[in-house]
Amino acid sequence: MILFDRLDALPPLSPEERLLLDSVTAMARDEIAPRAAQYDRSALFPWENIKAINGLGLNAMFVPEAYGGAGLSYAAYLACVQEISAACASTGIIWATNFHATKPLIDFGTEEQKQRLLPRVAAGAIAALAITEPAAGSDATGMTTRFAPDGDTVVVSGGKTFISNGDVADVILVFGKWSQIAEPRQAISAILIEKGTPGLKILRTEDKLGHRAASTAALAFEDCRVRRDNLLGEPGEGLALMLAALNKSRPSVAAHALGIARAAFADAVRYINERRQSGRRIIEFQGIQFLLADLATDLAMCEAWLWHVARLVDEGAADLAPGIAVEASMLKLRASDLAMRIATEAVQLHGGYGYLKEYRVERLLRDAKITQIWEGTNQIHRQLIGRSFIARQ
Ligand SMILES: Cc1cc2nc3c(=O)[nH]c(=O)nc-3n(C[C@H](O)[C@H](O)[C@H](O)COP(=O)(O)OP(=O)(O)OC[C@H]3O[C@@H](n4cnc5c(N)ncnc54)[C@H](O)[C@@H]3O)c2cc1C
Repeated sequence: MILFDRLDALPPLSPEERLLLDSVTAMARDEIAPRAAQYDRSALFPWENIKAINGLGLNAMFVPEAYGGAGLSYAAYLACVQEISAACASTGIIWATNFHATKPLIDFGTEEQKQRLLPRVAAGAIAALAITEPAAGSDATGMTTRFAPDGDTVVVSGGKTFISNGDVADVILVFGKWSQIAEPRQAISAILIEKGTPGLKILRTEDKLGHRAASTAALAFEDCRVRRDNLLGEPGEGLALMLAALNKSRPSVAAHALGIARAAFADAVRYINERRQSGRRIIEFQGIQFLLADLATDLAMCEAWLWHVARLVDEGAADLAPGIAVEASMLKLRASDLAMRIATEAVQLHGGYGYLKEYRVERLLRDAKITQIWEGTNQIHRQLIGRSFIARQ
């Protein structure tokens, strides 16, 4: 379809990046997509897919060359997230989480931290980003995880919940409050905790509606002693760091949602071109055409916005707040609402068959829902966008 060919040509990629994206498309089609239904059913972590991703050296694309990576553009990274997520949303979010947790290290880490940790990520290590706590979700500033300095170590105590990759991660970027700073927001700090650190406990992994192969862990830190030089930024710099991190991870979860949306749209169009009722193909009914027109138009507009945001980042939009915060919120909000809407309509267009596990749209509908909840719920994004227009007095 010319529409989608033109949309796919939108990201401003170098010839080298186009070649890589072609390889990712082939891997997604030939290896990841055929395994997706089975991983969804078994809810097992998709190690075969991670092996395939590491076979292409994909983590390296977001790690700078100086630390063993390839340092490709943000647009190229987002294009790969969309491809992988269309094939298997669980695998897409696992890989994207590596980026979400590593980007703050790339942007704010010391030279020593980057030399020590980034080559491992580039070579395929798994990373996790731990912000949410049982009583601190939408308002992350209510977190109670405590960082208490003790000589050249920091003692971390508390717990995190809903942590993607949390049980399998080689390194976890954890946010908590510095015990010596009284003001709660100013106390927020960030530290890197490596796998096997004594006191880091995996309490459980969650049984979920969708993204069943992507693990979501509850973690506890029981007097978990971490070397102080794993602190990212200075004590108290955590909130600025978190907001900068979210500016990069929100477009990434939007690309992931758009992968689900694309897959659902393709399945729906294929099905209604074949299925016949009342002597006609379903797509020949005008009411159905109006629906398709609305979905395709919104999808095209949203993808164009994705590449607009990618361009802002690649052209060097400021990392620290506000940076691209409003554009990123708009993208996350619209892409995830659209993924849910298209997946829902795709099930509807399949009639009763859409309700069966035999058809991929059933899984896509379950996978789409979380995109409206994580990385800031869509209610929160509406607030962030709306309040950006309040005039300063
Ligand atoms: C599968 C999965 C993976 C996740 N991965 C990660 C991860 O890797 N790292 C991480 O740190 N977190 C992760 N999360 C957590 C996720 O980001 C939070 O669930 C989300 O931010 C919402 O927080 P909450 O669940 O506590 O909901 P709550 O904040 O309790 O919200 C409940 C409801 O109230 C609404 N609400 C809350 N505040 C307001 C308000 N001010 N105005 C209007 N409505 C409001 C919300 O929109 C929501 O509808 C993950 C969650 C899931 C389910």
